[in-house]
Amino acid sequence: MPVPILVLNCGSSSVKYQMIDIETETTMASGLVEKIGLDGANVTHKVDGAKHRIDEPIHDHSEALALVTRAFATWGPNLSDAVAVGHRVVHGGQTFREPTIITDAVIEALTQLAGLAPLHNPPAIAGIKAAQQALPGVPHVAIFDTAFFSTLAPEAYTYAIDRELAQKHHIRKYGFHGTSHAYVSATTAQFLGRDPQTINQIVCHLGNGASISAIRGGVAIDTSMGLTPLPGLVMGTRSGDIDPGVFAYLQREAGMDSVAVDTLLNKHSGIAGLADGTSDFRDLWAKIDAGDADASLAMDVYIHRLVLYIGSYLALLGHTDALVFTAGVGENDNRVRARLVERLAGFGVTVDPERNTPHNQVSTIISGDDSTITVLVVPTNEELAMARQTYQVIH
Ligand code: ADP
Repeated sequence: MPVPILVLNCGSSSVKYQMIDIETETTMASGLVEKIGLDGANVTHKVDGAKHRIDEPIHDHSEALALVTRAFATWGPNLSDAVAVGHRVVHGGQTFREPTIITDAVIEALTQLAGLAPLHNPPAIAGIKAAQQALPGVPHVAIFDTAFFSTLAPEAYTYAIDRELAQKHHIRKYGFHGTSHAYVSATTAQFLGRDPQTINQIVCHLGNGASISAIRGGVAIDTSMGLTPLPGLVMGTRSGDIDPGVFAYLQREAGMDSVAVDTLLNKHSGIAGLADGTSDFRDLWAKIDAGDADASLAMDVYIHRLVLYIGSYLALLGHTDALVFTAGVGENDNRVRARLVERLAGFGVTVDPERNTPHNQVSTIISGDDSTITVLVVPTNEELAMARQTYQVIH
């Protein structure tokens, strides 16, 4: 008998969902609600290899969940078979360090935290309320992107600014993509046949958003994202690390207010900012191959930043067993991986070109037999990780 768990990932204008049978860890159905509150709103629902679509106006998350319910009722499987619902919540602040059954008090606490992630947490709360209405009889569980990094030591999470101000406003490093870093590092240990407590890893989650973490014996000791998902690596449209003095400078010199600077750094920077709006790595390589100097520089900056982080994490960990690539770029882009690992030759890290193939659907070792560190591609699966955590909480 399948034991279905529904996992939901609510963004400001979208809802991604999957129904996962936790017994077999297979996807029973998946779907996407797009353009909530916008023209062209629609739902696509995939089940049994077929793709179905509903096109109609969707004004809010409550209507989105009503359509998801209708999609399940029309094309299956039976939504009411779900034993629990897992909700992705981006920011858990200092309050939530692990998956949590959602009660009214939890919703209240999440509402208090909304200021920490104004783009991400309010849609998650709206999604939770709507899903509770649609599926009132089952437990709903919040899974936090920040939770895996709650193990960071004070020296790693403290920013060197006025302590009182920082405490008052909850300013510290939290880290994001935690569900992925946790899943990928656990999968890596399992794939290598090692107890997670015995290996040290550097995990590179390179998607449109990108982050890197240093994990000692299964416990995160540092990560590149911070109070917000803006710092660290160069991303599709986010700058990653930048001199904080740029804020005041742009205000003075370019007359930009904080909203304009925030938009610049989150939406029009990173690879897109450097390569004339291109943020997808397939398009970036096409430009590089055609001789575009801006695109080449964007790639160089991207790799340079990764080398800086990997170097510092090698130093932090002291001994590193595994360097792991995951997410859209990490799993598919063998040229990025090759370029990066070339730069680590001084540490004795090598990649075997025969093993470093694009489009890795399964965990694969790509390092040479002589490499001092095992380099791997391990596909992430945040939905499965959420389903597992949801199931653990309700048992
Ligand atoms: P997110 O979840 O952060 O939106 P993903 O992890 O799905 O992102 O990664 C999306 C990115 O992965 C795309 O923007 C693109 O740059 C990159 N990507 C996807 N497929 C490929 C590919 N075949 N080759 C190179 N890059 C790819």
